[in-house]
This record gives sequence, structure tokens and C-alpha cells, in this order.
Amino acid sequence: MSLRLPSIDGLLRHPACGPLLERHGRESVLASLRQLLNELRNDVLNGQVSAIEISPEVLAGRVGERLTQQQRSQVRRVFNLTGTVLHTNLGRALLPDEAIAAVENAARYPLNLEFDLASGKRGDRDDLIEGLIRELTGAEAVTVVNNNAAAVLLTLNSLGARKEGIISRGELIEIGGAFRIPDIMARAGVRLHEVGTTNRTHARDYEAAISPRSGLIMRVHASNYSIEGFTARVPTAELAELAHQHGLPLLEDLGSGSLLDLTRWGLPAEPTVRQALLDGADIVTFSGDKLLGGPQAGLIVGRKELIAKIKKNPLKRALRVDKLTLAALEAVLGLYRDPDRLAERLPSLRLLTRSQADIFAQASRLQPVLADMLGETWSVSGVEALGMIGSGSQPVARLPSAALCCRPQVSKRLRGRYLLNLEAALRALPIPVLGRLDDDALWLDLRQLDDEPAWLAQLPQLQAVP
Ligand SMILES: *Cc1c(COP(=O)(O)O)cnc(C)c1O
Repeated sequence: MSLRLPSIDGLLRHPACGPLLERHGRESVLASLRQLLNELRNDVLNGQVSAIEISPEVLAGRVGERLTQQQRSQVRRVFNLTGTVLHTNLGRALLPDEAIAAVENAARYPLNLEFDLASGKRGDRDDLIEGLIRELTGAEAVTVVNNNAAAVLLTLNSLGARKEGIISRGELIEIGGAFRIPDIMARAGVRLHEVGTTNRTHARDYEAAISPRSGLIMRVHASNYSIEGFTARVPTAELAELAHQHGLPLLEDLGSGSLLDLTRWGLPAEPTVRQALLDGADIVTFSGDKLLGGPQAGLIVGRKELIAKIKKNPLKRALRVDKLTLAALEAVLGLYRDPDRLAERLPSLRLLTRSQADIFAQASRLQPVLADMLGETWSVSGVEALGMIGSGSQPVARLPSAALCCRPQVSKRLRGRYLLNLEAALRALPIPVLGRLDDDALWLDLRQLDDEPAWLAQLPQLQAVP
């Protein structure tokens, strides 16, 4: 057993280490070298390797690989070919250029975040977008927080703490993870008063629940599921009237909430914020990064005196948004002033409205390339597929799309393993490609393949899949 390794000092002075020192600095290179040499010594001691003689060049090469790996950002761009456009796990909406420029500007320079340039006095960050929100929704006032979950929590706590919140049993939903309406109500200090049944709730159910203990009536948009068949719900306008007769505010959590009627682009109808307010909701909450197509944020809009009360809640400070978010949000809202060009300028809407014919043409173009890459073991076809909006918007609606469908041409017993291997190989690419496994095939839905050159350029790096 012999181990001949150069000394650390010798290595650091060796020309092979020069570029590494230049790139990563002495401290990192030294630490990584020490670790590597220790590992090699242990390998020899444990008898895993019988004799080692490694050149400084090889050692420097290994250290270089390690350092590059370590320094690669953990936040990585991916190709979302899952078919779900607003994918919560993949960061939801993509920002338009206008918002990216605004974020850069806000990151680089001081700004009037809470400073009123007209009076020279202290300002309020919500004022930066209040004008736009009023114009686009008809709301009297707005306050913005970290996300819609925060918007719901803050609103409930501000308007209903130590009182009862009346809500239909058909709307006691779980949005995902730890966000369930009954739990959020409890955390907000609001006592849940559930009325009606899962499928049917009537005005008389709400009316019977109203008492001096009541603080508010809440309505939650059934965003991630649908109840069909023998159902009944009270229209917002009627519920608002009932609430107001008894001096109670009506909160409507729209979830996605749209600023415009999406049917003009052939998308499924989603309630608009303006309509909810017109119907009489006193406060409406919705997300910034769902159908709105902006940064993660929760918007609370509605009656001025209620918004003022919400803004006074000390929790607001804990939930408020930062300058980068506000800058992006203002830029995105600005695009809504010109609805005719919105679908060109707002990436999420552009992707949602891509025609199936267009996506299909892309699938036909890419099919031979991928088929060639994967070889004879795989059949690759360009086929029609059905995608989703995502983020709980319109859970039942499907977006007609097209996909590259990859099927392993092997016995049924082996198929699962082949599919998992291909899925992992795509995930291991420099820009990981994420598809969807379904029906003994891997589907790459192309609705969101915008950057075709980058996708094609890395395909040759696809590790040989059996
Ligand atoms: C998505 C959603 C939420 C949570 O919004 P986030 O922005 O993800 O915090 C709350 N309520 C409804 C109805 C939703 O659809």
C-alpha cells in the first residue's frame, strides 16, 4: 500500500492551481484541496484503493469541479413543460420586461418607497399603486401584503378578531399545505360559524347565524375544486345586502381573481375583482402571481375605512411587501391599462392564450430532433395534450395544447424504470427539463417552451438513456 500525494504547499504553488486561485480565491481552494487529500488518504487506509499516485493536474481538476459545483446557484432556471402554466412549485407567473426593468431600478437606486415627493413628507408604500388599483378595479383603497394567504389572515384578524366569522360549509377549503380556511380563521382570532351544507347554502342559513357576536361574513371562491350537481349558493349581491342590513362587512377571497374578463381571450370565466366590488363585497383579496401575472403578493382592496383599519393592524408591518415587489406590481398593473396589447406583453397571459395550432407546429418541429436523440428504444410523437392554468385557478378547465409524448418500447415490466430514468436525465440537464409522467409515457407539454434555442442546445448533453 502506498500513497504518494504532493504537499499542500507544493500544490498551491503548482501552475495547475493558478487558474483555480484566480477564480475561487486561496481560502476556498485550500479548504477543498485539504478535504480531497483527506478523502484519498482514507480511501487508501480503508483498503478501497490499493495505491494512489495522483498528479497535481488531476487533483486541481477535481478541486475545480467541486468548487464549480459548490458555487452553482441553488436557485435554478428550469423548463416548465408540465402543462401547468401557473405552477406554484415552479414560481408561478413570469414577469414582463417592464416589471423586470422596474425591479432592477428599485434594486439599484434609492427610491420614494415611503416618501411623498409632492409634500416632502413621509409617505405610505401602498400609495404607490393605489391610483392604478382604483382605476382598474373601482376599489376605494388598497393595501398590499406578502401573498394572498397573508391578505386573508390580516383581513380576518383586523375586522373579525374575538367575533364570529360566518361562512358556508361549501367554502371551508384547503388551498394547499397548511392553508385551510378554518385554521386561518382560528389563527386570526375569529370564531368560525359555519352555515349550510357542503353542496347547498341558502340566504336563510346566513341570516339565522347572524347575532350580536357576528363580526363578518366571508365568502371564499372555490378555486381549486368544483361542486357540481344539486348545489346552491347565495349570489354575492344578495349576501352583501344581507350583511349590510346587519351592519356586517362582507369579505370575498377571490384567490386568483382577475382584473379583466378572461373570456375575451377564450379562457374560462374567472370572477373579476371589479365585479365582486360592484356586487357589494366590502373587501376583496387576491394573489399577485396567479392570473394577474405579477410578483408574489396579496392584494386587499375595498372600502376606505376598512382598509384604514387593516393598515393600522400591527400585523401589517410583519406581512408587508418589499420595494422590489411593489416596483414589479406597479409595472404589471400599468400594462392592464392597455388590454388590447396585454396578451402580447404579459408572459402568463401570452402563454395561456397560445393557440393549440401554434404549439402543435412546434411539437412537429421538435419531434424528429428528440426522437433522434433518444434512439430506437423510444417512440416520440407530437400529440394533442391538455394542460391546466394552475395555482388553483379553474381546476376543471383544460387548456388544449400539444406535447412530445415519449414511450419506451420495452416490455411492460421495464417501462416504469425507463420512464424514471428519462425523467431523471431531463432533470439533470444544465437547465432542467420538467415534464409529466402519465399513462406509461413522459409528456413534455410545449405550451411554455418559449426559448426553443436554449432547449435544443442542451439536448446533446442528455445522458444516454437506455
Ligand atoms: C391561492 C389561494 C389563496 C392563497 O394565495 P397565495 O397567494 O398562494 O398565498 C387563498 N385563497 C384562495 C381562494 C386561493 O385560490
